[in-house]
Amino acid sequence: MDQYVPDRLIIHNTVKGSPLTHNVLNNLSGIPVEYTDDPEIAIDPIKWTRDPLRVGKRVLLLTENRGRFLKPCPGTKEYICCGYQILNFATNCNMECSYCILQTYLNNPVMVVYANIEDMFSELEDRLSKDRGSVWRIGTGEFTDSLTLDHLLGFTDLVVPYFAKKKNAILELKTKTDNISNLFNLEHNGNTVVAWSLNAEEIAGREELLAPSIDERIAAAFKCQEMGYSLAFHFDPLIYYAGWEEGYRRTLNKLFSRIDPSNISWISMGCLRFPPELKPVIEKRFPKNRILYEEFVPGLDGKQRYFQPIRIEMYSRMLEWMRGYDPGLRVYLCMESRHVWKKVFKDDRVGSSADLAARLERKDEYKGKSYQT
Ligand code: SF4
Repeated sequence: MDQYVPDRLIIHNTVKGSPLTHNVLNNLSGIPVEYTDDPEIAIDPIKWTRDPLRVGKRVLLLTENRGRFLKPCPGTKEYICCGYQILNFATNCNMECSYCILQTYLNNPVMVVYANIEDMFSELEDRLSKDRGSVWRIGTGEFTDSLTLDHLLGFTDLVVPYFAKKKNAILELKTKTDNISNLFNLEHNGNTVVAWSLNAEEIAGREELLAPSIDERIAAAFKCQEMGYSLAFHFDPLIYYAGWEEGYRRTLNKLFSRIDPSNISWISMGCLRFPPELKPVIEKRFPKNRILYEEFVPGLDGKQRYFQPIRIEMYSRMLEWMRGYDPGLRVYLCMESRHVWKKVFKDDRVGSSADLAARLERKDEYKGKSYQT
């Protein structure tokens, strides 16, 4: 996959001295750089273009985060949530997945990096040192792709060794890219999990535009496996289409032909879901999409979902196929009801978000061998 290069770089004067800013300036050449005291003035005209999301992805803004970096995953209170924490170092993504929730979630169309990382590290230090009893699962891939800017930022050079020294935290880097060159030779001490979002190849090719192919993602995971990283995979969103069984089975075959299940910390599944306001955005920006063909019903959180029997069928088949490779794989559902959990896993053991969080936080067994959901 071609690495992302913006057409314009905007630097908020408050982060001129940041190590991330230095890295970006060293790694980019030949593109216009603007320094500003007020990034809004530079960004506003983009909001009035015909497709601000497309135009905004071509602009990289380095600014400061004046709020908190670490926040609980928004989850959905009516569904079981895994208790994840998000390290919000950047927002937006250069890839173009038709179903991407960020299209309605962000109020700023450009690629934003919060470059005041000394504040990020002091907040992390403060939070992690106050709560040494539990294991923090922290991820950077909720409002951006964790690795898509890494060749410019060198962010992982800083965070992976930091987490390597922590006894009570696991960092998850969630990506669709094969942008892993910075991960070579980093001291990770088993505390960084590199995770890929996977899908059926038909869906990846048609709905995940500008993202690397499934083969490229699995090849990158294989290289990380060679480097001793723990791995995770997210089949999210699972998309229902004629032939989905063969499509997802093929991806699983490819995955387990190269990846040793004992290196997998967890695998999540989540069927396609979206807030109603995303539908017109998808129709306008991706008129050739085929993900809206099925019937949807509003869930308890107002998001549109497939009918429950379809979700249960997809999860159950996927689980059966995955357990065929290794019955000990740790698999969980993202934002699903207790009823669906029970039907899929055929037991009651995950009754609440707290149960799920506790099970995923068992660091001693998070290589996935001893836990069955
Ligand atoms: S890779 Fe993730 S963040 Fe990027 S466009 Fe696709 S769904 Fe959105």
